[in-house]
Order: sequence, then structure tokens, then C-alpha cells
Amino acid sequence: MEHVKCLIIGSGPAGFTAAIYAARADLKPVMYEGMQPGGQLTITTEVENFPGYPKGITGPEMMLEFKEQASRFGTDVRMGVVTKVDFSNRPFTAVADDGKTITADTVIIATGASAKWLGLESEKKFMGQGVSGCATCDGFFYRGKEVAIVGGGDTAAEEATYLAKLCKKVYMIHRRDALRASKAMQHKVQNTPNIEMVWNSVPEEVLGDDSGVTGVRVRNVVTGESRDLSVWGFFVAIGHSPNTEIFRGQVDLDEMGYVKTIPGATKTSVEGVFACGDVQDHYYRQAVTAAGTGCMAAIEAERYLGS
Ligand SMILES: Cc1cc2nc3c(=O)[nH]c(=O)nc-3n(C[C@H](O)[C@H](O)[C@H](O)COP(=O)(O)OP(=O)(O)OC[C@H]3O[C@@H](n4cnc5c(N)ncnc54)[C@H](O)[C@@H]3O)c2cc1C
Repeated sequence: MEHVKCLIIGSGPAGFTAAIYAARADLKPVMYEGMQPGGQLTITTEVENFPGYPKGITGPEMMLEFKEQASRFGTDVRMGVVTKVDFSNRPFTAVADDGKTITADTVIIATGASAKWLGLESEKKFMGQGVSGCATCDGFFYRGKEVAIVGGGDTAAEEATYLAKLCKKVYMIHRRDALRASKAMQHKVQNTPNIEMVWNSVPEEVLGDDSGVTGVRVRNVVTGESRDLSVWGFFVAIGHSPNTEIFRGQVDLDEMGYVKTIPGATKTSVEGVFACGDVQDHYYRQAVTAAGTGCMAAIEAERYLGS
């Protein structure tokens, strides 16, 4: 059976940053990339808010550079998904989808949280070309334009008000006749003049052409009538699922399924197991914060091994 000092699960900005630091600290990290090598940024086009890229860079290109940097210091990056872990004994055990079992002195969980999508063909078609899962990331591209956002919870309300500051008009599409968001967020939405609520409605199709999104067709679930909204951007804010199924019962998760970490650190409920990036953060959800906590996780792992 193979034994490693540091096992990193996940290959997004958090995992690769942890890998760069762990490799340079001589922890000889082994990383399993998972089903989405490079993580969520591989499904977006332009990334303009990651420091160090003054001209912007595409998500896939940026993640290749992360990988190159982690590999340069000796990270063993492997294709494959970790399907099972056991943190009840030391060393910890992990099983990959090729059946291989690895024991590890420390584990860094960097499995992210997947954005939920509506599942429309047209949504997939225009992904990164007007369809986005992140207003903070992509709102800037639609300054002064009309956009639509779908969702009714706190995140959707937060993102709608964020977009309203940048965009000419925001259609907020919600399948019910009242938002699920907190009273305070509902109040904020109601008092933002350029947000127009599209109640009792669901998106049927994202409309577009070679230039990207041009509109969204919504159906009123009460009347059955459809209408087209003319928009440049379509934001999906119907929630995220933390990729933590395999960690259930192994480390403490919060009520939404995110890995619980000690505030200001990446330590989990199990000594020697650390979590970084979106898998433990449902608030910031940015590449730079994921990278920051990846760095923290590797430093904490190194100190744990040295202690
Ligand atoms: C459309 C879109 C656009 C975005 N644009 C920006 C932007 O412009 N700027 C910005 O800062 N942020 C942006 N974000 C947010 C950003 O992508 C995330 O905050 C960031 O990727 C989180 O990094 P992470 O490493 O925590 O997780 P992720 O990037 O989600 O990576 C998780 C990794 O874990 C792996 N994994 C999961 N389960 C397993 C398993 N069982 N075994 C092995 N591996 C596993 C996956 O394969 C993946 O590699 C965007 C997000 C989306 C969806």
C-alpha cells in the first residue's frame, strides 16, 4: 500500500495552491484531480479579478498555469476521484476510483462546491458566453446592460442587488410569488428601483446567437404564458452543493453540508485533516480566497507534521 505525507483531494485554485506550498515545504504532495480537473474555473471564459493577470486570462488557461507551477515543485498530480476516506485511524486512508488505497499523514480537502444549474440545453450552450453562476465574478462584463438572474434565496437576492449597482436593469426570476430570502434581503431587493421581479416564473430557454446570450424565455407557472426578456447576461443563483458526500461521518459538516473549519484556520474536527476553498466557504466563493485558504492549509499541514 502506498503511503504519502500529504494527500490533496481536488485540483481547483485551493488544491493547487496547497500543492505549491506543500511541495515547496518538501511534503511531496499527491493530488487527486477529481471529475473536474482544474475545478470550476474551467467552465468560465474570462477571469479578470485574480491578481497578477492585468490583462485577464481565461479560466482554463489560468488553471493550467496553476498546475504547471504545482508540478514544477514536484506535486504528483493524478487523474482520478477519491471515492472513500477513513479518518478514524492514523495514518488516514483514502481509496481512489481505480481501486488504489493510499495512506496519508495529512489530508487537505479541496473538493469545492458545485454550482447548481437549471439543466437546460441552452444554458449549457451559452455557459461562459452570457450564462454565469457568479455575479461577483462576471457582473462587471454587463455594466450598463440588462441582465436576468434566477433564484429566490439570500444568495440570489444578494447577487441581484450587486448586479443592480452595475447593470441598467436586473430581472429577478422566481418560481414563487415571494422570495425565500431573509426579510432584510427582501427589503433590499424591493427598494432597488432597477430590479424588476418576474414572479411565478421559470426560465424555459436561454436565447442567443453567435455573439452569446440575447435573452431568456420565461414561462409563468400560474398562467402558462411565456414571454421573452431581452438580456445580455443570465445569472443562475439557485444554490451550490458542497462536494462533501465522501466526508460525511468522517469530519464535522455544517447544516448545509460544508466542512466545518476553525475560524481563521483550515483545521477540521479531525487533527491532521484540513479543508480549504469553497468546500468550507459558502460566503466568498472566489478563486483568490480559495487560493488563500489553500496556502493556509499547506502551512498548517506542514506545522502539524513538524509538531
Ligand atoms: C461560472 C463561474 C465563473 C466563475 N468566475 C470566477 C472569477 O472570474 N473569479 C473568481 O475569483 N472566481 C470565479 N468563480 C468562482 C471560483 O471558480 C471558485 O471560487 C473556485 O474555483 C473555488 O476553488 P476550489 O479550489 O475551492 O474549488 P473548485 O474550483 O470547485 O475545485 C474543486 C476540485 O475538487 C475536485 N473534486 C471534487 N470531488 C473530488 C473527489 N471526490 N476526489 C477528487 N477530487 C475531487 C474537482 O474535480 C475540482 O478539481 C466562478 C465560478 C463559476 C461557477
